[in-house]
Amino acid sequence: MKDLLRPGELRELAGDRSYARGESYFSGGLVRSLTQVGQRLSAVVVGTRRYKASIWVADGASREEDRFREDKDWGDDDDSCEDDEWDNDGDEDGDEDDEEDEEREDGGLRYICSCPAGGFCKHLVAVALAFRAGKADVLDGGGDDEESAESVGEGRLTGAEKRTGEGKIVEKAVGKGGKSAATANAASKTATSKTRTPDLQTHLMAQPKERLVAWVLERAALDGAFLEQLRLDAAAANPAGVDMADFRRRIDKAFDFPDGYDPDGDDDYDGYGGGYDEDRTVPMERIEPVLKALEKILAQGHAAAVASLAEYALVEFEKVATRLGYDPDGAASIGKLFCVLHVQALRAHPTKSDPQTLADWVFNRALAAAPSYGGFPWEEYRSLLGEAGVKRFRSKVETAWAKVPVRTKDQRKFEDNSGERHFLRDAMIAFAQADGDVDARAVIEQKDLSSEHNYLTLAQIFRDAKRHDEALEWAEKGWQVFAGDYRHAGLREFLATEYRRRRRVDDAMALYWDEYNRQPGLHTYAELKEQADLGRDWPAWREKAMVRLRESIEVERRKAQRDAEKQQAARNAYGGGASWHGEWASRVSSAADHSRLVEILLWERNPDAAWAEAVAGGCSEALWLKLAETREKEHPADCIPIWHHRVTNLTQNADQSNYAPAAQALQKLGHLLHRLDRNKEFAHLMADIRQTRRARRNFITELNKLHLP
Ligand SMILES: [Zn+2]
Repeated sequence: MKDLLRPGELRELAGDRSYARGESYFSGGLVRSLTQVGQRLSAVVVGTRRYKASIWVADGASREEDRFREDKDWGDDDDSCEDDEWDNDGDEDGDEDDEEDEEREDGGLRYICSCPAGGFCKHLVAVALAFRAGKADVLDGGGDDEESAESVGEGRLTGAEKRTGEGKIVEKAVGKGGKSAATANAASKTATSKTRTPDLQTHLMAQPKERLVAWVLERAALDGAFLEQLRLDAAAANPAGVDMADFRRRIDKAFDFPDGYDPDGDDDYDGYGGGYDEDRTVPMERIEPVLKALEKILAQGHAAAVASLAEYALVEFEKVATRLGYDPDGAASIGKLFCVLHVQALRAHPTKSDPQTLADWVFNRALAAAPSYGGFPWEEYRSLLGEAGVKRFRSKVETAWAKVPVRTKDQRKFEDNSGERHFLRDAMIAFAQADGDVDARAVIEQKDLSSEHNYLTLAQIFRDAKRHDEALEWAEKGWQVFAGDYRHAGLREFLATEYRRRRRVDDAMALYWDEYNRQPGLHTYAELKEQADLGRDWPAWREKAMVRLRESIEVERRKAQRDAEKQQAARNAYGGGASWHGEWASRVSSAADHSRLVEILLWERNPDAAWAEAVAGGCSEALWLKLAETREKEHPADCIPIWHHRVTNLTQNADQSNYAPAAQALQKLGHLLHRLDRNKEFAHLMADIRQTRRARRNFITELNKLHLP
């Protein structure tokens, strides 16, 4: 087993990311109660939640779990997908799982974790690493080498052997301890062969059955999940057949997620009877035993019973699905697992349901399903439905779809996000696509014209069908309907492309000019340039754009001036003085300064022009600092007032978070002044700062840290 869990193998199984996370889980001591029984490791891994993880080597004894595992992975390849027309969303997982299954068959590694991640997750990596580090508590003779794994067979120790067996086992364990440092513990080395406690398996084998049963029942009474597992095991092993009422009770219990159940909550919610609270966080842990039991009775040939119970479970699931969270790996896979089982059972017992009845049932389930978990996987049933069933299903979908109200821009507020609408739309699209019917597809999309995106979708459908006139028509319609609103960038781009296709360059440019004209700034400027570059006529557009930008700044400036005059008048009325912030204040604030020009010129890598604009009309502090960066090398003197202002700004208030940046700004200023032989000036400044800010101890500490004078 150790050979199968070498770091290289683990990394390959888990991927680099999960491996690294598993490593830190292990080194962080998050692997709890790791036990080894034969070739099986089990542990609880405590992260944000508690997960149960097991790794074992496949052999005949674990067939049952193997089968379950295959289904959990949806790797069930019985579920024939011959009708390509239905297979719109494709089962991407399929191939990968097939590979895994093959690997498992030749005595490979098997594993399961109760977390939703699937695959060989970080928890399993952590368990494997803990095992390699010798952290496993070996409950039986130790299954790490072939020899002892074989000898720890079921029922090997009979009562008669018990009396003489003890010494034998002890000897063996000691021998093993010497061979393998990892499974030996310190205690076993110091124990003498006479007093060493036998391993748990040996001990339990020697107990009377009555005592074991009493123990198990005692534990089950305290552990609701374990109790349910036992009950399901009993139900599945019932020699008299299938007790349907009992199975329904078990299903009810498994799906008993009361209102307020929160699978993501870490608080100690315990509104759940029977001591289940420890396991409440992972729905799948409760569902798993039910699935296993149904699997078992299906294998025994009770296909009709399983079909009926799976149907029952799916209806129960429907009632609580929304409580199981939005994690698609949680609720969605539970729904899908029962569907897979249902389909298997129906296939094993074809007379159970006629296609018409099945079509109605599938339709009703899909209609009721909440979209939060991805909807009801009705595609699973396609091969079972056959031609007649599909026809029935489709006609039901079409009838219901006809009643779905049309959504328009004005009705957006009344948007219903029901699963019904989602399911019907998806099903309608699946049929239309299978028929290759573009018009039908477009009619479906026209049921919802509540956003620009809907128009874009329609336009794209026609474009993809090379029906460019209709494509343009829908794009223009959407553009018109939503005029005045926030414009959809995708729709604009689509329209521009269609105009260019028709060599209507002016129309394409107008779309981008309108946007720039409305909101001249770097973002719209860059978009305008991108479009103009397509026609290689940027210089002319650039000139126009600059004129427009200056015009816009001038409008803002006048507005700001009026506001300032009003404020000044108000201040004078109350006898206030002038702002001590002085000249710089007007240069670094307000939307009316040259910030937008500076930003665009810097973006165009024209730092000198940007500097000239900043000096002429001011800009934001962030831009001043950017400008300082561009001028530091060749014009250090230009940067001094910028850094000086930064220091003033940062030291005005006793704000702890500004202390370190202020000290850094002073350091910068010191370097610049030094380059200009103005050290004296800097010394004066520092003396002044140390004097006036002496009460701010932490600030002084920051200055000292940087060895400032
Ligand atoms: Zn996991």
